[in-house]
Amino acid sequence: MNFDDTPEEAAFRAKVRAWLDANAPKHLEAELRAASFGFQGVASEDPIGASKAWQKKKQQAGYACLHWPKEYGGGGFTPIERVIWSQEEGPFSALSAPFTIGHGMCGPTVMAWASEEQKREHLPRLASGEVIWCQLFSEPAGGSDLAGLRTRAERTADGSGDWIVNGQKIWTSGAHNADWGLLITRTDPDVPKHKGLTMFFLSMKTPGIEIRPIKQANGQQHFNEVYFTDVRISDAQRLGAVNQGWEVSLTTLMNERLSIGSGMPTGFPELFAYCMEAQIDGRPAVDDSGVRSKLAGYAVKASGLKYTAMRAITALSKGQTPGPENSIGKLVAGASMQELSMFALDLMGQGGVLDGEDQTQANARFQTMLMRSPASRIEGGSDEILRNIIAERVLGLPGDIRVDKDVPFKDIPTKGRG
Ligand SMILES: Cc1cc2nc3c(=O)[nH]c(=O)nc-3n(C[C@H](O)[C@H](O)[C@H](O)COP(=O)(O)OP(=O)(O)OC[C@H]3O[C@@H](n4cnc5c(N)ncnc54)[C@H](O)[C@@H]3O)c2cc1C
Repeated sequence: MNFDDTPEEAAFRAKVRAWLDANAPKHLEAELRAASFGFQGVASEDPIGASKAWQKKKQQAGYACLHWPKEYGGGGFTPIERVIWSQEEGPFSALSAPFTIGHGMCGPTVMAWASEEQKREHLPRLASGEVIWCQLFSEPAGGSDLAGLRTRAERTADGSGDWIVNGQKIWTSGAHNADWGLLITRTDPDVPKHKGLTMFFLSMKTPGIEIRPIKQANGQQHFNEVYFTDVRISDAQRLGAVNQGWEVSLTTLMNERLSIGSGMPTGFPELFAYCMEAQIDGRPAVDDSGVRSKLAGYAVKASGLKYTAMRAITALSKGQTPGPENSIGKLVAGASMQELSMFALDLMGQGGVLDGEDQTQANARFQTMLMRSPASRIEGGSDEILRNIIAERVLGLPGDIRVDKDVPFKDIPTKGRG
């Protein structure tokens, strides 16, 4: 691995840096820099409005969805140029949060499975931030076991070919701000669970959709329950063949792990900065041997993650697709952020439990990090599921036991199947 820029990469970096210098929303910089994982970011103005304005500006300059083809609203850049962009965008990248699911997961799925006409209609609006998309996959009985989902899509009897959807999704991030959604449904309960699923996309304003917010422990409201009651979807909004939804969903899930796993924060820079400022017995905390030993351990993990991400980038630069080993980044980063934020709050002593308007910035930062970290260990595949993937697909160990794999979905015994 060579981490230095080639002359072409250095020229691209300089061009990007100059454009950012002239165009980034500098009035939000201090707020975005102070924000860390678990914080909303912008509080001084409408956060969605600020995100949309930045996205539009980037798209007009050709810097939105850098790796997407230009005809779909992207920048047409190489994977390495995309990495250089994200390194340079720095704190302003936090403004892209409302688009993570649309750009990282729904867009690539639409690109792989929709008609040319649909791609040209929907993708540029997604790239420019005009619309927000959400991912309607998980259900109360179908999270890790996504193929166990129960939301039904049935053909209407009127011969139109349209579908009627009934059921419930849960944990739908950003559904309350979304214009469009990617929806996976069950269309055939008489075949094994992976074989009777079909994927659609639909407007979140379609009659019969009800969005109920879920309030989180950290006071934020990030995701929702979404109920479908006799929601009508045109057959033209189907992605892939009828009952081919599992295959379509794999495009989304592969992109999800890549999108969440790469570059996940560890909280190490924030902890290190805090230890430089905080005092133990009148001396900087960073001078304490116990603290130094902990910091050394976290530093090793953080640099291990950095170089694992570099391996994925190297694979991309050689035209390869990073494989299941990409799951390692999320697995290690999620757990280490949780451990590290607990250590920071321990260091703060009684101050660490303070809550309310007058809490210090550092205190609030590690509290929100701690409360966000369990979610990181679940979203996009829980720790256990990632370990299964690494065991089976990276290390080649025997597979997990899957007793319901070949049983028709309707015959899988469950309590209270509707
Ligand atoms: C912040 C956040 C955002 C999310 N956003 C979205 C979204 O936008 N759209 C969406 O569709 N979903 C979303 N999700 C849902 C997420 O995909 C699911 O929570 C996740 O897949 C786990 O499913 P579950 O919650 O049903 O847990 P379960 O699948 O019920 O798992 C419960 C526990 O059992 C363990 N377990 C399950 N199966 C196995 C196994 N085979 N071997 C070992 N252990 C196992 C799990 O690791 C976990 O500890 C989000 C979740 C979070 C936390």
